[in-house]
Amino acid sequence: MAEKTDIRGVLFDRVTFGEASDRLTDALRSGTPTALFTPNSEIVQMCVENPDLYPIINSAELVTPDGIGVVKAGRILGTPFPGGRVAGFDLGRELLRRLDGMEKPDGTKYGIYFLGGKPGVAEAARDRLLEEFPRLSFVGCRDGYFKKEGEENDGVIRAVNDSGADVLFVCLGAPTQEKWISANRGKLPGVTLFLGLGGSLDGYAGIVKRAPDIFIRLGLEWFYRLMKEPWRIKRMIKLPVFYFGTWKYKFTRKKKAK
Ligand code: UDP
Repeated sequence: MAEKTDIRGVLFDRVTFGEASDRLTDALRSGTPTALFTPNSEIVQMCVENPDLYPIINSAELVTPDGIGVVKAGRILGTPFPGGRVAGFDLGRELLRRLDGMEKPDGTKYGIYFLGGKPGVAEAARDRLLEEFPRLSFVGCRDGYFKKEGEENDGVIRAVNDSGADVLFVCLGAPTQEKWISANRGKLPGVTLFLGLGGSLDGYAGIVKRAPDIFIRLGLEWFYRLMKEPWRIKRMIKLPVFYFGTWKYKFTRKKKAK
């Protein structure tokens, strides 16, 4: 079992971007069912406020820190992440880049299914990615606006199973996608990789622009997103709560240890 870093109860893998990418391709080659979750500080704060989420988030085989908030919390708590931020959007893209040149032992391609986003987004993401990676094999696309249980959900499960997908992108936003993967992965025996990747399909489709590099380098991607999607303020207001709570957690932990 690889080493984990505990950030307020969420267990993150201590991996670099390259190692995380290798874990995904190795799991795919060996057929080891693997879920990838990439929580940011908003999600960790959601767990703190709603502890029922911990077992769901911590059930993934690979959990990487998406966002500068979690990386800073690692430093505050004395357990810095060796690879810094390992963002879901980039990891998903790197996996697709690798899949472009990858085949199964029988010479066929790994099947990719995009689930999530508004109607048409998954298809637009697929078409755009195919221009760059023409050897990818997409076996299905479906928007993310369906009832997450009952008959409609069963229909989605059936469609994914019938498609023969090996890699399932689940982009329903957090924590919906994590809950969905944890509740439904057992019904998807053919899928090896379950990737909970938030708004990544919007990004791949070119609908939501990624922050310019300078914002990412300065740790200000959250600010860029806030300018573009001001409704996010309701979620981002949790950030200072998360920082304050992390400092408090550090000091109470120290006191308890004495
Ligand atoms: N979404 C979806 N089904 C839903 C709710 C949301 O497919 O029931 C999609 C939405 O269209 C968007 C993504 O989930 O593409 C959420 O993106 P966001 O950037 O908010 O992700 P987060 O920051 O929550 O990971």
